[in-house]
Amino acid sequence: MSAQGLLDFPYYADPLADGCFKQEAITCEVCEQRREWAYTGGLYAANEPDSLCPWCVADGSAAARFEGTFQDVYFSETASTESRSAVLERTPRVVLWNPVHWPDHCGECCTYLGTLDPSAQPQLAAQESIQWEARDLARSISATWTAEDLLDCAVRGTMTLHLFRCRNCETYSLSLDGT
Ligand SMILES: [Zn+2]
Ligand SMILES: [Zn+2]
Repeated sequence: MSAQGLLDFPYYADPLADGCFKQEAITCEVCEQRREWAYTGGLYAANEPDSLCPWCVADGSAAARFEGTFQDVYFSETASTESRSAVLERTPRVVLWNPVHWPDHCGECCTYLGTLDPSAQPQLAAQESIQWEARDLARSISATWTAEDLLDCAVRGTMTLHLFRCRNCETYSLSLDGT
């Protein structure tokens, strides 16, 4: 039995792979159940809990109990209120260097897929929607920058690119982060 098999995080594709959970016997502070899995990410709250289970992250009860949020991100006005709440209150924390923009598409927040490494994932990086996104982000930095310049920075590790995908039409989005 894996946490991944039991839980669906619609806005985070593979939190287990990113180390958001570990196999450890805990008593969750919210549901008070003995669990075999612990949530290892944080919760932004006045009193941060020591032990949370993945299930209380997923159903929003941990965020509600501690009046906290899991992410340090910002949204566009085009992202639905419901999807923003799901990202903030029912999605394991995405590890970031700086607060980043959580992209949305088709009116909803996108699903986080992880960091993009163009050298390890060349076919993915060559996708048209990723190239478009990289071009837009590059131009937001400098008028002379191209998509390639930006992707090179991600390869060299001078910038981090977070990859997202629309839940509806599967278009990719990128978000720029530091290192
Ligand atoms: Zn729990
Ligand atoms: Zn879409």
